[in-house]
Amino acid sequence: MNDYFLSKLTCPYCHNDLRLQKKKDLEYFYCNKCLRKYDFTNGIPNFLPDDIRLRKDIESKKIFGVKWVPGYRGWKPNLAAKIISFSFSHESGRIEEKIGTKSIVLDVGCGDDARGDVNVDVYIPKPLPPNFLLASAELLPFKDNTFDIVRSAYVIEHNLFPVKMIKEHFRVCRKKVKIYTDNSDWLGVIVYRILNTGSIFHDEHYFKWSKEYFFNLLNRLGLEGRVALFNSSPSFFVKFLSFFGKLPRIGPFFYRDLYIEIVKKQERVE
Ligand SMILES: [Zn+2]
Repeated sequence: MNDYFLSKLTCPYCHNDLRLQKKKDLEYFYCNKCLRKYDFTNGIPNFLPDDIRLRKDIESKKIFGVKWVPGYRGWKPNLAAKIISFSFSHESGRIEEKIGTKSIVLDVGCGDDARGDVNVDVYIPKPLPPNFLLASAELLPFKDNTFDIVRSAYVIEHNLFPVKMIKEHFRVCRKKVKIYTDNSDWLGVIVYRILNTGSIFHDEHYFKWSKEYFFNLLNRLGLEGRVALFNSSPSFFVKFLSFFGKLPRIGPFFYRDLYIEIVKKQERVE
């Protein structure tokens, strides 16, 4: 890991400075406030929460008609779903985002398609992303305001503590938080339910998000930002339906994805 980012590490629980300890063959980060030790797994700093074990031996299950393993970011619809969505494209159906090279980006829950200067996830992706460490989205081992941009794509629906996660993104970010997730108001959800496929049957999805609910949450948390609807699907049919998204009140039916942007204003130093 890059020295600069090493200097930005902190205890994810108490935000205390960490000391890198070396005892014989053992190397670990030590927090002298909560007395936790964070060791290395396959040479990677491991800041996973106390209650999450490393899921290296997880048994993959069949979801969406294909074997799902942690970190799988695309989705492969079954034949019936393909016919409905006219989706015979080889694209992943996920966001194609250009991130500027000037900003320092943290990608939370990066999976095997990491986009950050620093990348974290709860398992070790293949190939190993640059500056990678093991950490969960609601307990990040970084000092306040470390990154220009903190992004997480299709992670919040997997996290047990979404409010904590949003606050944690905000804490370590300097300028902007970007969150992508599935729009639960999308009409396709009903179609896929009938076809017995799609994201609602994913056994690691715990929460549904909509434009209005997410916006209410931002307000409640006193965060400034916006919630936008969009379609990341490569399907021409889904893209075509975006046209109806302009309709008042029922517009959200026609978008598959949600994009949340939270802006952080620099605190003025007096
Ligand atoms: Zn600590």
